[in-house]
Amino acid sequence: MTAPLDPAAVVAEFVERVAPYDPAPEAGPVAVLGLRTALGEATFQLGDHVVRAMCRALEAYRDPEDRGSCIACGGRRLDENLHCLDCGRLHGILGEVIARHARRVAEDPSYGPSA
Ligand SMILES: [Zn+2]
Repeated sequence: MTAPLDPAAVVAEFVERVAPYDPAPEAGPVAVLGLRTALGEATFQLGDHVVRAMCRALEAYRDPEDRGSCIACGGRRLDENLHCLDCGRLHGILGEVIARHARRVAEDPSYGPSA
């Protein structure tokens, strides 16, 4: 279960944390951000400094479930074992060891059907 989150409170705290470092606070707002959630509505007038900080924060965010993409099919759904849920390819060191072993077995005629 995810912890309850109040997006408007999070944005307000972000603005409070970043705004004091605005090198040109007299320049005034360059953006208006409106938030409407089940908890209510909030409107924020944001200066250039805060907008840039918010954009950098959003760009830097990576989802905890983001484990990269599959080298076989390009899928983005890798489970915690780096197993692709779309094509079945196993990634990481264990996946590489298994893939190498599978190639060796496939190339070794002694593993073939017995005559
Ligand atoms: Zn895949």
